[in-house]
Amino acid sequence: MSLQNPVFIPGPTNIPEAIRKACDMPTLDHRSPDFARIFRPALAGVRRVLNLEGGEIIVLPSTGTGGWEAAITNTLSRGDRVLAARFGMFSQRWIDMCQRHGLDMQVIDAPWGEGAPVDDIAAALRADKDHRIKALLATHNETATGVVSDIAGIREALDAAGHPALLLVDGVSSIGSMPFDMAGWGVDIAVAGSQKGFMLPAGLAILGVSDRALAAMEGADLPRTFFDFRDMVTSYGAGGYPYTPPVGLIAGLAKSVEMLEAEGLDAVYARHARYAEATRRAVAAWGMRPCAAQPALYSDTVTAVVVPEGCNGTDLVTHAATRYGMAFGVGLGAVAGKVFRIGHLGMLTDAMLLSGLAVAEMCMADLGWEVPLGSGVAAAQEYLRTPPGAALADAA
Ligand SMILES: *Cc1c(COP(=O)(O)O)cnc(C)c1O
Repeated sequence: MSLQNPVFIPGPTNIPEAIRKACDMPTLDHRSPDFARIFRPALAGVRRVLNLEGGEIIVLPSTGTGGWEAAITNTLSRGDRVLAARFGMFSQRWIDMCQRHGLDMQVIDAPWGEGAPVDDIAAALRADKDHRIKALLATHNETATGVVSDIAGIREALDAAGHPALLLVDGVSSIGSMPFDMAGWGVDIAVAGSQKGFMLPAGLAILGVSDRALAAMEGADLPRTFFDFRDMVTSYGAGGYPYTPPVGLIAGLAKSVEMLEAEGLDAVYARHARYAEATRRAVAAWGMRPCAAQPALYSDTVTAVVVPEGCNGTDLVTHAATRYGMAFGVGLGAVAGKVFRIGHLGMLTDAMLLSGLAVAEMCMADLGWEVPLGSGVAAAQEYLRTPPGAALADAA
């Protein structure tokens, strides 16, 4: 693996130089006002990225998976019923975690490549007349298949059924890269991680927690200590942590939100949509298709490319790593070998994206797949040549 090449895994993502420098700092007393001066702007910036009104932003030394655990243990009690849709590796892993915590899972299965089935969720909520379902889990962007789900539609289903369940959303591979609207969608907890849209090293779970979720925390009896929101909220009031925080990562987070807002969140989202479209044009030119079943489900942050019959996506990923020092994502679980994944999130430029598509093509040629060199690159070049505004109008 060459450390000079950009990575095309859907997290961790490429770290901008300015963020690396922000993380690299001398020891600072985390109980001093100097820490609060770094920490408070980071929290305020995350709040704007999530569009959270009221509630709390909670930043834990952990990863996205720890964020899931914090979301459920702070709001639920042993035996509580939880509704969730399963349509990929990440939605599956969150369900597995809930089962291990003794929650009573009501799972709706959908084919991998589909999103959360809003109609089935609506029917399950309507059928739950005595409101036994305490929480609904939704994976906004299923990173295994490159599928985005309709969180606003799920909120409508909850409202239409007059159902009070908490809406807990995994936004680990969407937040900071795709529009996310906690207030507008009535999301009670949103979970992100530092190493995807925030372009940082792994090490932080970043959560938006609504007032309703904070209220649920008092009655929730699942055990938690390190992740207890109550301790966090108390310490935050004094500008600090109940334990030693990773100060460098938090300084990096402050820089990250500063960079996202300097570019403009809408411009960041448009850039991701543009790279996703350029990638899909390359995929089409290769004679392949995304795993996502239809255009409305296409993710702006990751494309899972279905490889032709007789080809193995994992071979391409292994070859790219060993021969060209470049990282792509393998297929996970039910789509292992059947897809390879191109992550196009975080810090990327036109030139970086084209380098990834070019290397993927060389790998296909080396492996004897029938893909003419330059075909996908040319399709992406043609698309990226048009100025961003015009290109977006074209795609819309
Ligand atoms: C990466 C990812 C996770 C897991 O996050 P970690 O930081 O690896 O613990 C969870 N959900 C989704 C959708 C992801 O993409």
